[in-house]
Amino acid sequence: MKAKKYLLIPFALFLSFCITVQVASGQKAPEKIFKAGAAKSNITPFLGEGIIGGWNPPPATHIHDELHARCLVLDDGETKLAFIIIDNCIINRELYDEARRIINEETGLPGANVLMSTVHTHSATSSLGGSPSIIEWKKGKPFNEYQNFVVRRIADVVRIAINNLEPARIGWGKGNVPEHVFIRRWKMKPGTPMPNPLGGEDQVVMNPGVENPNLLEPAGEPDTEVSFISVQSAAGRPLALLANYSLHYVGGVPVGHISADYFAIFADRIQELLKADRQDPPFIGIMSNGTSGDANNINFRGPVEKNPPYAKMKKVADDVAREVYRVHNKITFHDWVPLKAAASDLNLEVRKPDKDMVTRAENVLNRPETVKSVHRLEKIYAEFMMEMLDWPDNIEIMLQTFRIGDLGIAAIPFEVFAATGMEIKTKSPFDATFTIELANGWYGYLPTPEQHELSGYETWLGSNRVEKEASTKIVNTLMNLFDTIKK
Ligand SMILES: [Zn+2]
Repeated sequence: MKAKKYLLIPFALFLSFCITVQVASGQKAPEKIFKAGAAKSNITPFLGEGIIGGWNPPPATHIHDELHARCLVLDDGETKLAFIIIDNCIINRELYDEARRIINEETGLPGANVLMSTVHTHSATSSLGGSPSIIEWKKGKPFNEYQNFVVRRIADVVRIAINNLEPARIGWGKGNVPEHVFIRRWKMKPGTPMPNPLGGEDQVVMNPGVENPNLLEPAGEPDTEVSFISVQSAAGRPLALLANYSLHYVGGVPVGHISADYFAIFADRIQELLKADRQDPPFIGIMSNGTSGDANNINFRGPVEKNPPYAKMKKVADDVAREVYRVHNKITFHDWVPLKAAASDLNLEVRKPDKDMVTRAENVLNRPETVKSVHRLEKIYAEFMMEMLDWPDNIEIMLQTFRIGDLGIAAIPFEVFAATGMEIKTKSPFDATFTIELANGWYGYLPTPEQHELSGYETWLGSNRVEKEASTKIVNTLMNLFDTIKK
């Protein structure tokens, strides 16, 4: 006993000696410093390419406002997360994968820590490659000039944002802007004809027309929340703000115009409200798309609106920015929060047309022009049927989650329905949650199984390309990813 005690004393003395030496030489254990950096790079295309977003793309003849890739990088001293939100309509996984590869090579950022998505402006030219078809299976095709340019600019913006990293504090919050999002799928009064281009009859109509006398009720609820993350320098100078609102887009753009829609106007307005003009490096406002596959800006109950070009998107951007600013004044800023990322691929079955559907599509495509169509999109969907035959039987989609303190963020590569976004918010293990859609790829619409039952535009094969249970599998996978990063 005595001997042991004797041994202990010198050991304690030795320990205290070590501590004294450490303090004396100034070598404290390194403290984790939270940092943030943001940047934007210009991705405006040449004039002349077709504008995406409609059925008959007109060539771009004018640039109303430049298109950008906007990036926010967060760093907790151990882990970095990067958001890159791109002013385009839709981008395929192959382009994102190439950007992710270059970003990893140049910055060391792991693939799971890089979240890329498009805002979904319908006034950009295509980033899908040469073919005018949006649903052609493009894997393995070489990139065209614009695609290579976009990849390079996405990789560049991450490097610039990392160059701009500085000690920062972070806060987040959510507001509510119910006046600008409406479900666009409607149930109609009994007896209303609802033919679809595949030769069947639907139970809901997409964009039924404002004040249509046959309107019954919308087939769902919109998500009216606007969520945001705000970063400031240690001294309180605004660095960047990334928001998330579940609105498809606004539009109201003259034919041939290139514009980043309300997403870019929001960025300008929030910069103005936060008094963050003329900073060096510049403040970066960002608006990402939430879950807006079935929600747009049109109040179908009326009244009919007539707006000059760009007027409505300015109004929407202004109202959403004001709500974010109102909440922003009350949020808590943290000097440090943990950052985590997790991603995994999910295998989904591709929906293929059956024999009867193919025969019908062939008949539609080969019949004389004099035969009347049952639907104005009959020929386009007949072409889609044929293109779906080229798709593989299964695809691997990327699902991703970020953790920023008690905030969870999910990313899904589809046009996701509002109900799915709200389900993720409810089931999430985090205090606050939002979802960024059109992220890390694009595979069309993602109706819930219940919405598949109701049929309608977003469920037609071509608009939707994966198994009808996909949204359920996606939510389950995201919850598993959330559980991993919650620990
Ligand atoms: Zn769209």
